[in-house]
Amino acid sequence: MNAIRTTCAYCGVGCGIRATVTDERAVQIEGDPDHPANRGRLCSKGTHLGETVGLEGRLLTPMIGKRRASWDKALDLVAKRFRDTIAQHGPDSVAFYVSGQLLTEDYYVANKLMKGFIGSANIDTNSRLCMSSAVAGHTRAFGEDVVPASYEDIDAADLIVLVGSNTAWCHPIVYQRIRARCDAGAKLVVIDPRRTETAEEADLHLPLRPGSDVALMNGLLAWCREAGALDAGFLADHLSVPADFWERVGEGSDLWSVARTCDLPPADLRRFYELFAATPRTVTLFSQGVNQSLSGTDQVNAILNVHLATGRIGKPGAQPFSITGQPNAMGGREVGGLASTLAAHMDFAPDNRARVQRFWAAPTIAEQPGLKAVELFRALGEGRIKALWVMATNPAVSMPDAGRVREALAACPFVVVSDVIADTDTSAYAHVRLPAAAWGEKDGTVTNSDRTISRQRALFPLPGEARPDWWIVKEVGRRMGWKTAFAYDRPAEIWREHCRLSAYENDGARLFALPGLSSAGNAEYDAMTPFRWGGTPFADGRFSTPDGRARLVTVTQKAISGPLAAWPLTLNTGRYRDQWHSMTRTGLAPKLARHREEPLVEVHPDDAAGLGVIEGGLAWVATPQGDSLYRVRVTPAQRRGEIFTPIHWTDRTSSGGRTGLLPRPLVDPVSGQPGFKQTPARLAAV
Ligand code: SF4
Repeated sequence: MNAIRTTCAYCGVGCGIRATVTDERAVQIEGDPDHPANRGRLCSKGTHLGETVGLEGRLLTPMIGKRRASWDKALDLVAKRFRDTIAQHGPDSVAFYVSGQLLTEDYYVANKLMKGFIGSANIDTNSRLCMSSAVAGHTRAFGEDVVPASYEDIDAADLIVLVGSNTAWCHPIVYQRIRARCDAGAKLVVIDPRRTETAEEADLHLPLRPGSDVALMNGLLAWCREAGALDAGFLADHLSVPADFWERVGEGSDLWSVARTCDLPPADLRRFYELFAATPRTVTLFSQGVNQSLSGTDQVNAILNVHLATGRIGKPGAQPFSITGQPNAMGGREVGGLASTLAAHMDFAPDNRARVQRFWAAPTIAEQPGLKAVELFRALGEGRIKALWVMATNPAVSMPDAGRVREALAACPFVVVSDVIADTDTSAYAHVRLPAAAWGEKDGTVTNSDRTISRQRALFPLPGEARPDWWIVKEVGRRMGWKTAFAYDRPAEIWREHCRLSAYENDGARLFALPGLSSAGNAEYDAMTPFRWGGTPFADGRFSTPDGRARLVTVTQKAISGPLAAWPLTLNTGRYRDQWHSMTRTGLAPKLARHREEPLVEVHPDDAAGLGVIEGGLAWVATPQGDSLYRVRVTPAQRRGEIFTPIHWTDRTSSGGRTGLLPRPLVDPVSGQPGFKQTPARLAAV
């Protein structure tokens, strides 16, 4: 049997897989030695993908309420309810909430339907929760949401800095690459409040006070300036610098002040600053610890400022590198799947709107950015959104203040959920459920963290009446009256249209362009091998701003409030190594459960002693939003005053560990990304 080349279903590393189908619903999984992201390696989640392709728990027929329905009946109902709602309340009374699990072709069709035909930008994605601060930071600095780095930069770096990233657990194959480079002599610095498995192996761990990243990076920039480590030529030729930039960077940026703000030993801080200033080939990777903050965009720009001003960008081994969570967060960004972007890396400027409307021959076009995830569910709760379609995600678990999200879903007059799983916490509120094709059943493309575009390929026939997401969306579009615009028969047609749009009236001002692929035939699409678009962006020092210069962005450290009397702890949330999101897939592989069998709250020994909670005991974590029960792990890996819980458990899988109920629905003011990492909380033994 021939192996089929496809891509892992989970994280943004985007590892290539060789899948050999061995039976009706059985497959043998191996890493693809020819895929540039992983060169044959797979982590535990990817390795066990074959155990998750069974049909237990699957939604295999359309459902209206509790009754099975034909596709025609279900699609007609969805189209009619959306059409009627728009006719009565306007285009902004409806919304789509989609997912980084969608393939690029799925994302493209959903975005086209909402922005170009319904005429609203109320389509947002769970990627908002993951990396939208990186999108906003890139756009502010570079003029376009471009990730300049590739994985090969890790292989060429002499210093690797990880900020807010437990890479060993969350991007394991990237971490193996980092370790290999460190074994060859590169140094590793980890900046993270927690002493994670990644931090354990670092040459230097800086367990900074949560939320103090801007102070740390501004201090680094001031240090580099003082040490003569700025790139004067690059600054003069390629950067725009606000008038008061250096003055503001210098405020409170002496070593002692930064050490106090960040709660770090000055000697450790000095060591990091000296190492960075002396190491031109430095890659700084950052992920959710930076993005999921109430000042996430500023934190991203603080990192980008340092790399730009020291000329550590666009060169082998010298790059800032945002690593994404989901397999296709980047593909969603490329088609404009966020409420704040239009399509093909364009914003809502009038000429962009006119261009996209022309290209789509659309009857209308969204006039302005739509509601971002937290705003969207707030609008749902306030009755402003009257019809919602949730695709391939579980916001009743994953949104902050998930209890309030559930109330909003319950109050919405019409909720559609398309998913592979029959009963999710979110589909409990659906009026219509539509069976979507799962990994291994659908065809399309995904873009990983370093802009490598890879194919996901079908391994099995579609089970029951399941259909690919692009098919479901285009059928609703056709039934809403736009037959020609949604006349797709296969994903290759959508791919070609996406490529043509990326290059349409693009004189090179936008870096994102796939012109050579717009004429790819079906056979070429089917045979597509992984490729990275954009080469080495910014190697020529030209950025996607009107004047071609990148912008240094003035960012200052916000005051960090101390503990509140009623909520004396700070709750941080995150992932476990062997689980993915709400475990609908990884939960099917028994071996993956062995790593962490239940949700733990991790707490420092001093806090545990003061609160009377003990290792292995049970304790309630409470915040102003809700509470949930956890098993206690007492560990010095936590800073005093801070606790950590995992995000994976839901009502379906556990009576406790319901982390989604706990975070505040507060967001970064620029990106709209929720600040999951710093929720005031308390802990009490049972
Ligand atoms: Fe899959 Fe990510 Fe693991 Fe690679 S690192 S095998 S993409 S989960």
